[in-house]
Amino acid sequence: MTIANNLRKIRAALPVNVRLAAVSKFHSEDEIMEAYNAGHRLFAENRVQELVTKYEHLPKDIEWHLTGHLQTNKVRYIAPFVSVIQSVDSVRLLQEIDCEGMKAGRQIGVLLQIHIAMEENKFGFSYDEAEEFFADGVFEAFRHVQVKGLMGMASFTHDCERIRTEFASLGTFFRGIRTKYFAGSEVFCELSMGMSDDYMIAVEEGSTTVRIGRAIFGERH
Ligand SMILES: *Cc1c(COP(=O)(O)O)cnc(C)c1O
Repeated sequence: MTIANNLRKIRAALPVNVRLAAVSKFHSEDEIMEAYNAGHRLFAENRVQELVTKYEHLPKDIEWHLTGHLQTNKVRYIAPFVSVIQSVDSVRLLQEIDCEGMKAGRQIGVLLQIHIAMEENKFGFSYDEAEEFFADGVFEAFRHVQVKGLMGMASFTHDCERIRTEFASLGTFFRGIRTKYFAGSEVFCELSMGMSDDYMIAVEEGSTTVRIGRAIFGERH
């Protein structure tokens, strides 16, 4: 019952229009089913193999997101069912998703991952690269991907002011891109930021989707 309680508490703390992606990586199918039976339907995984296995075993009305780094040669395994790939970090990957979306006969939602943290080892576009991406508009030719917004991960630190600054700058960047390149369109509407330790800061800075693992399922095994 703790998973259901954790979900209820987090849900109560979030504004109604903020989506909650339950990050179930390394957690069992039984644990996912506990959340499912409490009414939760949006789950996120980081690795392709784990996502595919869970998709195959679990109820088909689950909305699955991928939040981990994706290699181009693995897109085909998830293209038939994944709802949103939040971790698109190159144009090459986006092309591959478009191609596999075509083969699967569907349109796949994507978020561009923006590198906002001070750590070097996090994937994603820099602000300049992302601006260039939207300015040339190459993505508009892709029929089988829908660019729905941006995703970012703050620095791994206890410094709340630093985290807030990073989320605030991503929020500002997101709203700027939306105004400049998506005026009059409802499509570009997702800003995915915030995890177990920082989601309330993220929400204050404009997050529309939080990705929460440990605060729902406990520590990962
Ligand atoms: C693991 C992970 C999360 C969830 O992290 P928690 O600290 O368990 O809430 C969110 N986003 C991404 C990209 C992750 O890899």
